[in-house]
Amino acid sequence: MTNVNTSTDVVLIGAGIMSATLGMLLKQLEPGLNIQIFERLNVAAAESSDAWNNAGTGHSAFCELNYTPKQPDGSIDIRKAIKIAESFEVSKQFWSYMVENEIVIKNERFIHSIPHMSFVWGDENVAFLRKRFDALQQCHLFQGMQYSEDAQKISEWIPLIMQGRTKNEKIAATKMDMGTDVNFGALTRSMFDCLKAMERVQLHFDHEVRDIEKNNGIWEITVKDEESGDKRVVQTRFVFIGAGGGSLPLLLKSGIPEAQGYGGFPVSGQWLRCTDETVIHQHKAKVYGLASIGAPPMSVPHLDTRYIKGKRELLFGPYAGFTTKFLRHGSLFDLFKSIQFSNLRPMVSAGIHNLPLTRYLIEQVSQSADERLDALQEYFPDAQMEDWELETAGYRVQVIKKDDEEGGVLEFGTEVVCAADGSIAVLLGASPGASTSVSIMLDLLKRCFPNQLQTKDWQEKLKRMVPSYGKALADDPKLCNEVRAHTSKVLELKS
Ligand SMILES: Cc1cc2nc3c(=O)[nH]c(=O)nc-3n(C[C@H](O)[C@H](O)[C@H](O)COP(=O)(O)OP(=O)(O)OC[C@H]3O[C@@H](n4cnc5c(N)ncnc54)[C@H](O)[C@@H]3O)c2cc1C
Repeated sequence: MTNVNTSTDVVLIGAGIMSATLGMLLKQLEPGLNIQIFERLNVAAAESSDAWNNAGTGHSAFCELNYTPKQPDGSIDIRKAIKIAESFEVSKQFWSYMVENEIVIKNERFIHSIPHMSFVWGDENVAFLRKRFDALQQCHLFQGMQYSEDAQKISEWIPLIMQGRTKNEKIAATKMDMGTDVNFGALTRSMFDCLKAMERVQLHFDHEVRDIEKNNGIWEITVKDEESGDKRVVQTRFVFIGAGGGSLPLLLKSGIPEAQGYGGFPVSGQWLRCTDETVIHQHKAKVYGLASIGAPPMSVPHLDTRYIKGKRELLFGPYAGFTTKFLRHGSLFDLFKSIQFSNLRPMVSAGIHNLPLTRYLIEQVSQSADERLDALQEYFPDAQMEDWELETAGYRVQVIKKDDEEGGVLEFGTEVVCAADGSIAVLLGASPGASTSVSIMLDLLKRCFPNQLQTKDWQEKLKRMVPSYGKALADDPKLCNEVRAHTSKVLELKS
C-alpha cells in the first residue's frame, strides 16, 4: 500500500555520521526546519560509522603516509595533508561547540588523545619519512612532531613494535602527541539522540528509501516501513543521501544529470582484534606504516590503540577484500544492480585499468590465518595468533567516474555530488570520511543553500559553531593555536 501523506522541508537518508552532522548544522542554523530522517536498520550508526567498523583515527595527516605523496622530482607534496589537518580542526571546533553548549551530552567520551605515529623500515622508506618530516615542519599545523631513527628512543615510544626486531635493521618513526582516537559511532548516536528530542525532527528506524523522483520541482521519496511492509511517499524541497554504501543506487535513481557516469567499486574489510589485556596495555599509539606495492590506499596497515565503551582496545589491519555488497548489511547483487547504461563504460574501463587492484583484493580475501599473522608480525614481531580475533569491518564503495582519456577512473576520496539547483546532494566515497564530516557538510551548505549562507544570521551562527569558519588555519598560526587550545580544553585532549 502506498500513501502520499507527508511533506517536510528536509529529508536525510541514512543515520550515519554524515546525516547526523548535516542535521545538527541545519537545526542550529534554522531551528524551525522540519526534518525527517529514514534509516533502514533499527539503530543509528550500524554501518561504517560504528566504532569497530572503522579505525577511529581522527585523520589529521600526522601519521598517514598516503596523504603526503612523493613527487616525481623526489620532493614531498604536503597539500593534501594540510587540507586534512585543517578539516579535522574544523570538526573538533564543531564537536566542542556541541559539548560546551550541552547539545551533545558526553554520556560516553567519544574522543581521546593518543599519539599518532608513522613507522617504516629499509633505507628508501627511512629516507622518505625523513623528507616527509622535514616538509611537514614548514607548516605550524604539524608543529610538535618528533622524528627518530634511534632504536632506543623508538622502543620507549612503541615497545611492542620493537620487541623481537633485528638490531641492525634500519628503522625510523615520527610521533605526534596530539593525535586522537574517535568513537564515531558513539558521537553519531549522541547527535541523533539530540536531534530526536528536537521539535520538528522525526527519526524513522526500519524505514528503507526505495525510490527518489522529482515531480513539479518537489522531490518524492518512496519509503518502505520494514516492519509493517507499508510504503509511503514523502515530499520535500531538499534531500541529502547520506546512505554510505547505499548512496550510489539512490543517486542513480534520482535521475539528475550530474549522476551520469558515476559507478562504485566496493571493498570489504577485516581487522585483527587483540583479546589479551596484557598485550593491549603494552601499546599506546596509532602506528601507521606504508601500504605494500599494488595495495589500495585504504589498506595501509596500522596497529591502533582504541577507546571503545570506556575500555582500551587494540586492533591491527585492515585486511581489504573483494566483495559485491555495498553495505555490511547489504545484498550480494548490489554491484550488479548498480550497473546502468550511463555508467557501463566508466565501470568497465575502471575495471580494466585496475585489474591488479582486483587481483590484490581477491588475494587478500583468500588469505590464510598464517598470512594474516605474517602481516601483523611485520609490526609486532612477537604476536601470537591465539591473542587475536578476526572482526568484520565496514564496507567502502570507492567512486568510479567518467574520464575523457581513460573512459573511467577509480577514486579513493570522498565526493559530494549536487544537482545544479542544490535541491539534492549525495556523499560518495569513504576517505578520509568521518574525521572531515563537518568540513564536508559546510561545503555542502555552500552549494545547496548559497543564499541563506550569505545572510548575517547564518554567518554569525557558523562563526559561533566553528570560530575559524571562512579562514585558513594553515595561514594563521595564532588562530590555529587559539582554536587548538580551546578544543583541547573542552574535549579534554592534549594540546
Ligand atoms: C574499514 C574502514 C576504516 C575506516 N577508518 C576511518 C578512520 O579511521 N577515520 C575516519 O575518519 N574514517 C574512517 N572510515 C570512513 C568512515 O567510516 C566513513 O567516512 C563514515 O562512517 C561514513 O559515514 P556515512 O554517514 O556516510 O555512512 P554510514 O555510517 O555507512 O551510514 C549510512 C547509513 O545509511 C543507511 N542506509 C543505506 N541505504 C539506505 C536506504 N536505502 N534507506 C535508508 N537508510 C539507508 C545504512 O544502513 C547506514 O546506517 C573508515 C571506513 C572503513 C570502512
